[in-house]
Amino acid sequence: MIIAKFGGTSVAESEAIGRLIEIVRSRIVDQPVVVVSALAGVTDRLLSLAAESETEESGTLDRALRALLDRHVEIAHSLPGADGALDSILADGETLRLELHELRDRRPTPAQLDAIAARGELWTSRLVAGALGGAGINVTWVDIRPIMVTDARFTRATPYMQVINTRARECLRPLCQAGQVPVTQGFIGATATGASTTLGRGGSDFTAALLGAALEASRVEIWTDVDGLMTADPRIVSSARTLKAASYEEAAELATFGAKILHPATALPLVRLGIPIVILNSRHPDRSGTTIEPEAVIEQVGDSPIRSISWKQGITVINIRAPRMLGAFGFLRALFEIFERHETVVDVLASGEISISITIEDRSRLTPLLRDLEELGEVWVEERRAIIAVVGIGLRNTPGLAARVFNAVWPANVEVISQGCSSINMTFVVRQEDGPDVVRRLHREFFGSD
Ligand code: ADP
Ligand code: ASP
Ligand code: MG
Repeated sequence: MIIAKFGGTSVAESEAIGRLIEIVRSRIVDQPVVVVSALAGVTDRLLSLAAESETEESGTLDRALRALLDRHVEIAHSLPGADGALDSILADGETLRLELHELRDRRPTPAQLDAIAARGELWTSRLVAGALGGAGINVTWVDIRPIMVTDARFTRATPYMQVINTRARECLRPLCQAGQVPVTQGFIGATATGASTTLGRGGSDFTAALLGAALEASRVEIWTDVDGLMTADPRIVSSARTLKAASYEEAAELATFGAKILHPATALPLVRLGIPIVILNSRHPDRSGTTIEPEAVIEQVGDSPIRSISWKQGITVINIRAPRMLGAFGFLRALFEIFERHETVVDVLASGEISISITIEDRSRLTPLLRDLEELGEVWVEERRAIIAVVGIGLRNTPGLAARVFNAVWPANVEVISQGCSSINMTFVVRQEDGPDVVRRLHREFFGSD
């Protein structure tokens, strides 16, 4: 069995779904489970409809929703078999229209946001299942929600892996063994009581990995719009090169620090079983892509000790200066308890004798977090920052590397530097507006010019 996950651009229009059909057909002997994202841009659009519903006129909302549904209708009409999906999509569109109207004068709750966002994946999976069926492939549409059971932290739910393992095996394995191709949704799940949840933006990769682990798949294929994991985001560095292979650790570091190509948790369920993740370009299925696996042969790119550079914007730096930290124990425990209490994830940390700098991405609980941190010492915040992560081989033991990195970064100011004990990564903070240039300058220094 394999998992074949198709991201938003790989299902964006009927030509893309046509390519998906041929890719799935070429893998029938591998017993694929097909996982799809929403059509490109649809999750964003659904979430903005939810946000606008509080104040926007109902006529305007209806027109916007109609435009969104029309995209699905157009695809349904241009692919044989897909029009069978239309009744359920349009009926659900009508339910959504009424749900949006009920949000008038009310801000949507996280649970309502998830129920709205989940529509994107539900609708695409119906279209794709119809189109695969129309192309003569035996398919079964599967609602993933009763399988993908999560906690109730809406918009960033945590999946219950044990339950998922059991249910995925019970439900999906027999279908594959009977020669059916299950077609299901990434990104979405449900609580034990059946309320829709989502796994966080970009979460379809994570779904694919969770199902891959549950079914002990021989590989998890991530079909996307680039050739694989690259030396930098090709949207920023046009000369970025594709890595043939990568380790789980490299992929996780790059994804955590902004490489959107994979959801940061993707490798997590697969590490123990050693299941490979293969990132492939759905526009060029013949290209070999990037294989992420335990035995990956990690080669240098040219003579560079660095293999890839990523960046993540929208970062806030919190600095705490606490003279009583000097020689005191228990300080870090007190500090991290505060972050835990406010459920705020820390990305990068750098500490001195009496001060500590911490970066966070989620600002939703910033005010109460800062209030509690002020109990520990003087606190000041720097906003609109970006984290740059440099990932490579044996970075810790490469003399002169830091000098080379910071030389390349100049004249941008480097703020928080962290290397930790990992020899594969080095991270630092710059002003957000400097981020893309810093990535380009580093790429030029280590991989040559554009
Ligand atoms: P999908 O919709 O298929 O899930 P995403 O947009 O989530 O696709 O991820 C693919 C995008 O990730 C690419 O188009 C590319 O711009 C971006 N990206 C960022 N960093 C990297 C990197 N290091 N290697 C490849 N792609 C990257
Ligand atoms: N459609 C979801 C998103 O846009 C999930 C995904 O694409 O992986 O975040
Ligand atoms: Mg994605």
